[in-house]
Amino acid sequence: ERTVQRIAAGEVVERPASVVKELVENSLDAGASRVAVSVESGGTEGIRVRDDGVGIPEDQLEAAVAEHATSKIGDIEDLDRGVGTLGFRGEALYTVGAVSRLTVRSRPPDAEAGAEITVEGGDVGEVRPAGCPAGTTVEVDDLFFNTPAREKFLKRTATEFDHVNTVVTSYALANPDVAVSLEHDGRETFATEGNGDLRSAVLAVYGREVAESMIDVDWTPEAGEAGGTADADDAPVERVTGLVSHPETARSTRDYLSTYVNGRYVTASALREATLDAYGGQLAPDRYPFAVLFVEVPAGDVDVNVHPRKLEVRFDEEPAVRSAVETAVEDALLDHGL
Ligand code: ADP
Ligand code: MG
Repeated sequence: ERTVQRIAAGEVVERPASVVKELVENSLDAGASRVAVSVESGGTEGIRVRDDGVGIPEDQLEAAVAEHATSKIGDIEDLDRGVGTLGFRGEALYTVGAVSRLTVRSRPPDAEAGAEITVEGGDVGEVRPAGCPAGTTVEVDDLFFNTPAREKFLKRTATEFDHVNTVVTSYALANPDVAVSLEHDGRETFATEGNGDLRSAVLAVYGREVAESMIDVDWTPEAGEAGGTADADDAPVERVTGLVSHPETARSTRDYLSTYVNGRYVTASALREATLDAYGGQLAPDRYPFAVLFVEVPAGDVDVNVHPRKLEVRFDEEPAVRSAVETAVEDALLDHGL
């Protein structure tokens, strides 16, 4: 009951994009090499995520949509990884099923036939046979149909789609080895190839002009260098990799500065500012570059649990992290005579 109340209050499932995030994460956890996301009206009418992962055996479908239904081992590392999904651990499908019409259809690759289960506003239906390709398809229709929250989302489908796009883009860029696609109201927004190449993923998401302007970043600390320490082995930043755009390829929004810490998408202003600082005076006023930066720090040095659903992080050694990122981007620009 407590969970149901929290769900109804919009505390657990915040908006269509939070559902998309959970479903895409499940697909990646399932080892998918393709994840196809398709939404209607910003996700308010329909969300469908299809993958070619390990699938869910028929006899486990019911458990998958039940409360506390994780099949994933709950070790400490899992707890860290599950951030952004704190209200959801082992209950994403359950909570989504409580506030929508949810169908999970799946076939493990070695199973002869598929099966599906439907949950409508928390009412769990029977498991039925279903014809389907190997992998899992999750459909979420009429999100929030049984809550007061629905009204407000229906009025702003463009905003909701922006949030969905941000989520799917962040996973597409973080997983260039997975073919990730996004479709809105039947039109393809982007589709990455899944060939493992970050620049190719950037091409799919941001287009040719941006992809061609991208400069490689690959920095590791050396003894004595900024962000490093006397002994590079216990440096506060282990590595910074990714791509940043030529200063002339800039836009009037910071939305294209994507940062990841230990593989997880974060919105850390320290990382954004460090990136911008590296450009010095090279950016036109109120212009921001494109960046996809992966920062690796020792696991114990970062607190990803600042807020369950927000994507903030707190670093033990923020000044050192800042200076490492700034140096990494500066070095990359310098390599290109910038
Ligand atoms: P969690 O991901 O925290 O375990 P979820 O409610 O998101 O909890 O999912 C419940 C369970 O359903 C997962 O542990 C997994 O076993 C199964 N599952 C969900 N989505 C998929 C998927 N796309 N592919 C394979 N299994 C899935
Ligand atoms: Mg999950």
